[in-house]
Amino acid sequence: MTINVILLGPPGAGKGTQAKTLAERTGLTHVASGDLFRAALREGTELGMLAKSYMDRGELVPDEVVIRMILERVAQPDCAAGVIFDGFPRTQEQAVALQESLAEHNGKIDAVLYLHVPNEVLLRRIAGRQTCKVCGATYNIYYFPSHRPGICDACGGKLYQRSDDSLETAQHRLDVYFTQTRPLIEHYQRQGLLHEIDGQQDIAWVTDAMLKALGRFLEPSAQPKE
Ligand code: ADP
Ligand code: AMP
Repeated sequence: MTINVILLGPPGAGKGTQAKTLAERTGLTHVASGDLFRAALREGTELGMLAKSYMDRGELVPDEVVIRMILERVAQPDCAAGVIFDGFPRTQEQAVALQESLAEHNGKIDAVLYLHVPNEVLLRRIAGRQTCKVCGATYNIYYFPSHRPGICDACGGKLYQRSDDSLETAQHRLDVYFTQTRPLIEHYQRQGLLHEIDGQQDIAWVTDAMLKALGRFLEPSAQPKE
């Protein structure tokens, strides 16, 4: 069954962490707008340079740029069986563009999993976030550090701190979330798609809650254990 899921929530809520596990458990493809921009930047493309000028300031990249990038990504064959959107949509215009584009291909959003986490926890999570340069695995110096400092447990790659995870930029990204992205909660609530999940719980608990929320869409092998 093809399903499309959006992970919604502020920076640091745990969207990327959960999306990776959910993708493994469900076979859906993880599409993260922030990861796509960071990859474009590593490749030195024009898109990467443009995105960097916004990311460094904690601002959103303009809608038309993000929308084009995501719609191109979801047109690729690996997205045909369904997608977990992480970090997209972040504005009303992005949400409408996604819904219109899916509808053109007889698709739709099936569920929106909203991770709720209080602000003070978010800032600590962002400040402590470390990401693997090679495989993208995420660690946290406060909550679950890698076994060897600065080295990824999964692949041995080097860990780095994102430049937009400084306290000042992180605070601004939270403000941007509250003004531009939070209204999407109501947008999806009105459509009956929203599932609110307590993102303060530990990672395995949150994964389980997400799988339960997706329960009726999942193959038996991906169902959460009782
Ligand atoms: P987002 O993609 O929503 O910005 P991440 O998945 O990158 O958030 O998580 C932000 C930071 O918080 C990372 O360092 C991650 O390891 C950590 N984290 C994620 N989920 C939890 C959790 N349930 N409890 C504690 N820390 C978490
Ligand atoms: P993230 O990796 O989701 O924390 O995103 C990092 C940065 O990439 C954001 O602060 C924005 O500058 C940019 N970005 C990612 N996704 C979007 C989006 N959907 N719309 C606009 N900008 C985005």
